[in-house]
Amino acid sequence: MAKRDVEISAPAFDSLEESLEYTRRFQNPQGFIDEFVKLLKGRIKLSADPKYDSRIMASGSAIISRGQEAIKIGLAGLICDSELFKTLVHEEMHLRLIRKAERSNLRILNIVTHPDVSVEEDYVEQIAVRYLRMYEGAFGKFKH
Ligand SMILES: [Zn+2]
Repeated sequence: MAKRDVEISAPAFDSLEESLEYTRRFQNPQGFIDEFVKLLKGRIKLSADPKYDSRIMASGSAIISRGQEAIKIGLAGLICDSELFKTLVHEEMHLRLIRKAERSNLRILNIVTHPDVSVEEDYVEQIAVRYLRMYEGAFGKFKH
């Protein structure tokens, strides 16, 4: 579980229509995630198609085993769009970090092999928060 710099809270709605539209993501989480990724602007390339997993207690998790790389999104990752965006970048960074470490990048190797797992967690979370700020700076704030 990562240290979170951005608070997760359900959004406030201006109308019933908006509220109903928001709740649709929980009825079809995978469809919502697929659509969200498809509509992302910029050049965000994910190493794996994110899969919804209701068993995950955190916003997301990454499977880094070679050949089985996966990005999983939990319920908490759906609560707001900015959290989903940040989670996608966070998990993607775990995948990229391990590949960089495998190419003998010593600085990254030290991060991914550090006995204190929070070293890697804090590192990827910082990048994810920075990406979120840059993205919202360039394309505007997420709606929810
Ligand atoms: Zn993490």
